[in-house]
Parts: sequence; structure tokens; C-alpha cells
Amino acid sequence: MPNFNLSDSVFEGALKRFPTPFYLYDEAGIVKTVRDVQSAFSWNKGFKEYYAVKALPNPEILKILMKEGCGLDCSSYTELLMAQKLGAQGEDIMFSANAMPAFELAFAAKLKATINLDDRSDVELLHQNGGVPDLLSLRVNPGSEGKGHNNIMGGALDAKFGWMPSQIKEGLMTLKNLGLKRFGLHAMTVSNTLNRDPWVHSASYLFHLGAELEKETGLKLDFINLSGGLGIPYKPEDKAVDIQKIGEEVRKAYQSAFGGRQDVRLFTELGRFVTGPHGFLVARAIHKKEIWRDYIGLDACAANLMRPAIYGAYHHITVLNKKDAPKDKVYDVTGALCENNDKFAVNRALPEIKIGDVLVIHDAGAHGHSMGYQYNGRLRSAEILYTAEGDYRLIRRAETPEDYFATLNLD
Ligand SMILES: *Cc1c(COP(=O)(O)O)cnc(C)c1O
Repeated sequence: MPNFNLSDSVFEGALKRFPTPFYLYDEAGIVKTVRDVQSAFSWNKGFKEYYAVKALPNPEILKILMKEGCGLDCSSYTELLMAQKLGAQGEDIMFSANAMPAFELAFAAKLKATINLDDRSDVELLHQNGGVPDLLSLRVNPGSEGKGHNNIMGGALDAKFGWMPSQIKEGLMTLKNLGLKRFGLHAMTVSNTLNRDPWVHSASYLFHLGAELEKETGLKLDFINLSGGLGIPYKPEDKAVDIQKIGEEVRKAYQSAFGGRQDVRLFTELGRFVTGPHGFLVARAIHKKEIWRDYIGLDACAANLMRPAIYGAYHHITVLNKKDAPKDKVYDVTGALCENNDKFAVNRALPEIKIGDVLVIHDAGAHGHSMGYQYNGRLRSAEILYTAEGDYRLIRRAETPEDYFATLNLD
């Protein structure tokens, strides 16, 4: 089920202070979810969630997560810079890029971030740019070799990420000669899954592979990074994944691979699962059009939330103060882009909408604002934090045309 935790009055409070469209994030919800994750894996003493910065790269959100004990999973130089500005350093930062530019590797090494190498060609690149540290992570692409431990991971064959399992031992031996002492393994084989199994299987696969490589290389297996990919219930019929159950199943897989041993740290890089349900895009109906179908035009568009346009993703929509009204109309809910896929919903049953009504687009707290763009000169919206104390804080102002022009030469 989509997230309905915030009452209409919370949105009304924000609307009194800020013009639409804007994103509203629920601090209490984010904190509760991250604590649930930590509790599910608390059996592992070294457990750490590295929040995937790209999902919601707002410093105020990242500060909340850091206060809860999270590290930051960065995917670019700019995200590393943001982490640095927030005071993160060393093992607070995980750096997972692919096709890594040399200067990014060098900067990650300078911050002493834990670097997640995506390919064997990165070994020489790192050696030349920053040097091989004590501890590194290697990103695994199980391809069909993952089938030894489960039969779900064949989908990795056409993924661009990670090393083939058969390349890793040699890579680790090369790294050992260059000074590596400890290693971690990382894999992200699914995205937005509501099914526990692939996630738990991936954990089991990495545990066994790590134990094997430790024996073969004499390097210490320091951590297993289960990465992100857990889904959230976008649709009314979707069921949330039970994170406690996942924690328990991963614990069993850990025991079966490592016996009584407890020193292998467990990491996650959940993005969507942690903040996704706790962000809402709030927009106003500014246009109504009745042709072959009935259209409601909003003051937000795909440039503010791209997922429906590019993946056909479902986001639940509610109309403020019409919770109990019958859903006896069918609308396409659109933005203003000159692009026919600029639709937040197609053929959606909704209450009758009048111009001026406020629509809340649910579960937009991850890969929402951050995927925004400026096509058609449409600008990215403000972001507002609904704090645990019940206040509203502008944590990113809306872009203005001056921002759009800032990279251009108009003289
Ligand atoms: C995108 C990404 C994540 C987060 O994915 P979610 O689907 O938001 O959980 C974690 N790790 C890496 C390396 C990623 O690229």
C-alpha cells in the first residue's frame, strides 16, 4: 500500500507557506524506517547502512541519516564533495561508480572512502590515481555463475556493473601485491523488488563467494555489502517487504556460510526503501481538458518526477480533502511538457477534480526530485522538510530562470 501516513492537515500547513509545486519529506517516517533497517540487522555488530545519496541528495536529509548512524553511498565526484562538506570521511563514505574517471578515484582515495571497484581495469587506474589502500570493495556481477547458489541471478548477464566472479581472485592477488590487506564484496542484482528471495539469495551467494576468496587469497574478508534494490509498495495492492524477516533470513544465510564466525561486517545501501515512501510531490490542478479523454493539467511535470514518463512507473495520487469522495471520474493527469509521456497517471480513477485542487503524488521520496531535469525550460521545484517536531523547513529553494541561465552566455 502507498504511504498515507501524513494527514491532509500536514499538507495544508505546507501549502499555507509555500507555493506549489514542491516536494514534502516526512522526517519522522524516514527516521523510523532507518531504525527498522538497523534493528533488522542488529545481530551483526558491524552493520551499517550507507544511504544511497543519489536517491535523495539533499544535505538536510543526509544529516538526519548521518545522525542515525548511516554512512553515505556516493556515485560521483559531486556526491563525494557533498559528503565531504557534511563532514563525512573515511569509512563513512562508500564510493560506487562505474566507468570511473581517474580524478574521481583519486578524490575518493584522498577522502579515504571505501572504494567499490567496478572492474579489473580499475585496479591499475587506482594504483596510478590515489594508490591501493588497506581495504577495498569489489563489485560482483554474478552473471549465470550465481546459479550455483540460486537460480535467480541470471539477469545479471546483461548488466554493465561489476566483475565476473572468475576475474576476482586474480584481481585480489594483484591488489594484494599492491598492498591490499582486507576486502569486501558488493553486488546489486535487483532493483525495486518486493520479493525477499532474490535479495536473500544474493546475500547467500556473496557470503559463500567471500569465504572462498578469503581462503584462496589469504586476504581477510572484511565486509559484505548487500547494496540497495529493496522495493516499496507503490500500488494499493502491493505489500511492503518485511525487513525484520529479511534480516532474519540473511542471518541464517550468514551462519550457514560462516558458522560461528561474527567478524564479517554487513552493509546495505538502501535508497528507495529508506526515503521513498516518505516523500510527496504536491502540485495543483491548473488546467482541465475534455477531448477524447479527460485530462487534468498540473503545475508539476515529468521534469519534477520522471519515473512515470520513463518507466511507466505507478505513483499513487490523492486529491487533498477528497479522501472520502467517490472515485467516479477517470483522468490522465499530466504536466505541461511538449512530450506525450508527460503523464503522472493514465486512465486513473479519481474523485472529480476542480481547478485549484491540490494533488498529492505519493512515494516520491527516492529517485524523484533527484532525477529532475530542465527540459522545456521547466525548472526543478522546492523541497520542504516536515520535521519530527511538526515544523516546515525549506531545504531547497525552487529553481529560477537565473539558475537556468547561469551556465549560459547570454551576452
Ligand atoms: C542506486 C544504487 C543504490 C540504491 O538503490 P535503491 O534502489 O534506491 O535501493 C545502492 N547502491 C548502488 C551502487 C546504487 O547504484
